Amino acid sequence: MAKETVLVFIITVLMILPGTVFSQSMIQTTQRIIVIDPGHGGPYSGLATSGGVQEKTIALKLAMKTAQNLETRYNVILTRIKDTNISQQERMFIANKNLAEFFLSIHLHNSKEPSSFFFYFDPPEPDTEEIPASENTWKSQPLFHQPESKQAVNSFLSIFSAHKKTNYFFSKGAPIILLEGATMPAILIEPLSISILPHNPDEMNIILDEYAVLIAKSIDLYFEKK
Ligand SMILES: [Zn+2]
Repeated sequence: MAKETVLVFIITVLMILPGTVFSQSMIQTTQRIIVIDPGHGGPYSGLATSGGVQEKTIALKLAMKTAQNLETRYNVILTRIKDTNISQQERMFIANKNLAEFFLSIHLHNSKEPSSFFFYFDPPEPDTEEIPASENTWKSQPLFHQPESKQAVNSFLSIFSAHKKTNYFFSKGAPIILLEGATMPAILIEPLSISILPHNPDEMNIILDEYAVLIAKSIDLYFEKK
């Protein structure tokens, strides 16, 4: 809990006093800085199952579990640690201001293929699904660090393809606006379908723990290859 409080404090102060706390945080850590962004929050619940499971809640749980898997090796910052709404610009501000080396946005999908893994970066892979122009026009800026973002995607694909439950990989460009303004490699993943999650909290935790380990391994692999 104390760590979460510190995180909220850092984020809050960064919003109020850009540049003030930043130099201190650089002195405090020599670890790589990673920003993990749980999708949605507050009134924006994202996808939901008929049983009332909401994407915003699962994305936050998965992000926090992933952070726990990474925290001994990285300085991990979450864009939100509560059920609060935060704008796309605020999410990216946190990453840019902290000079994060990697930005990962976590969402869920609701595909007919529950074991599929969706990933988004710029540009979408030419050999995967075509992006209709109508879905892609609202991205106003090109993303920086495209080759590195692609390397990150490849690390995720390599770890998740070794995982027996993940059989389908899809790339899309439509919601790439969520990565807009990133000054570091940035990707958005939807590693599992909300429909496969059991309502029993213990059973759900087992699945999320498993995915959190895979996400952490993917990030490790990405930085090993750099
Ligand atoms: Zn979402």
